[in-house]
Amino acid sequence: MIDIKDKKQCCGCGACEQRCPKRCISLKTDEQGFLYPYVDQEACVNCHVCEQVCPVLDSAEKKKPVMTYAAMNPDDGIRLKSSSGGVFTALAEYVVKNSGVVFGARFNESWEVVHDYTETIEGIAAFRGSKYVQSVIGDYYVKAEQFLEQGRMVLFSGTPCQIAGLKHYLKKEYERLLTVEVACHGVPSPLIWKEYLSENTEKGAVKELSFREKSNGWKNYNFYICQDHVCHKELFKDNMFMKGFLNDLYLRPACYHCHFKAGRSGADVLLADFWGAGAVRPELDDDKGLSLMFLYSQKGKLILQNLLLEFSEVDYKDVVKYNPAVIKSANPYFNRLFWKSHKEKGLASIEYVLSKKRFLLFKKFHNLWRKAWRKLWN
Ligand SMILES: Cc1cc2nc3c(=O)[nH]c(=O)nc-3n(C[C@H](O)[C@H](O)[C@H](O)COP(=O)(O)OP(=O)(O)OC[C@H]3O[C@@H](n4cnc5c(N)ncnc54)[C@H](O)[C@@H]3O)c2cc1C
Ligand code: SF4
Ligand code: SF4
Ligand code: SF4
Repeated sequence: MIDIKDKKQCCGCGACEQRCPKRCISLKTDEQGFLYPYVDQEACVNCHVCEQVCPVLDSAEKKKPVMTYAAMNPDDGIRLKSSSGGVFTALAEYVVKNSGVVFGARFNESWEVVHDYTETIEGIAAFRGSKYVQSVIGDYYVKAEQFLEQGRMVLFSGTPCQIAGLKHYLKKEYERLLTVEVACHGVPSPLIWKEYLSENTEKGAVKELSFREKSNGWKNYNFYICQDHVCHKELFKDNMFMKGFLNDLYLRPACYHCHFKAGRSGADVLLADFWGAGAVRPELDDDKGLSLMFLYSQKGKLILQNLLLEFSEVDYKDVVKYNPAVIKSANPYFNRLFWKSHKEKGLASIEYVLSKKRFLLFKKFHNLWRKAWRKLWN
């Protein structure tokens, strides 16, 4: 049975919990706010099913995409509401128009991030845009399987580990399943998100929230929040929660040793920001958002022909070097220090650890400079 001794070895996908025939696994929150499986040993019959569906225990080899494209939604309104080029919405609309079901991550009433599904075009809006918190998957692998067994088309979107979790849960290929992963820097702690909201907002007052508001452009995006119709935006690099996230302070332990990057999740399509567009394809970059679309299967390729998208082929090697999150895990260097200081300082530990990081970088630079100076004079 599943027994998590090393937290790096669990991405929290929930496949074990949803597949256990005795329903004796429950996901519980740890002291960092992440969910992990716990087994009721009295009820467990030692069937090993949970281990068989765990994507970490059975991770795949890296693979390269069959095709790589720069892509954008031709509707500028959709593109501006999306994090990158609005490709997710084009894929989701295609599936809904074909009587399919779309699964994705949305905010709930408390601004926590949860998975859900929709069968309507209007319902897709809630999934649009990146939410930088680990989403709770609930029992949505079970629901996706039910729709697939009814012969419905299903688009399941999420982080690469959530896609790997679904594939392992299903243990069977479905012609009508399209899996779409987002390039994943890592998922921040839901506990830190909760603390951030409680220190910076009035309870029940948040009406609108976006991690990637684009009124300053796609590359200089804002963190945007409206409380009782008073709205406030802050450049992403000035927002405390985003600074801690982008500096890898409080990601899930598994994110520092990710098993699902570089084509290892089994997803059909990967969507990412085309951060290198200015260097690789400047003519496509109008700063409203541009996606990279990596197609890992023929299914993804077939669907592309039916989408309302503007796209153009790019070279995988050229684009991946501007987007390391597609292939490389985050750096764990300051994670331990963050949690140590969080016990005492709470959210103030974000600034504390970042100042330490700046000091260490300065010291490193200073030592290099001194070495070069001495060499010059000896
Ligand atoms: C936690 C996280 C980290 C990311 N890190 C990077 C990165 O390092 N580099 C990069 O190029 N791109 C990253 N992305 C992806 C990128 O921000 C865009 O989501 C992606 O390019 C798709 O953009 P879009 O405009 O086509 O669609 P959008 O409408 O912007 O994307 C919506 C899609 O994101 C999914 N989604 C949103 N939040 C979550 C969540 N918390 N968990 C699971 N799925 C979610 C929705 O289900 C939907 O499929 C990250 C996304 C997330 C959620
Ligand atoms: S061994 Fe079987 S019964 Fe026990 S927790 Fe795992 S799946 Fe459930
Ligand atoms: S990675 Fe997923 S399947 Fe494996 S133990 Fe964690 S929650 Fe369960
Ligand atoms: S970095 Fe890897 S383990 Fe972490 S959420 Fe993303 S896919 Fe999952």
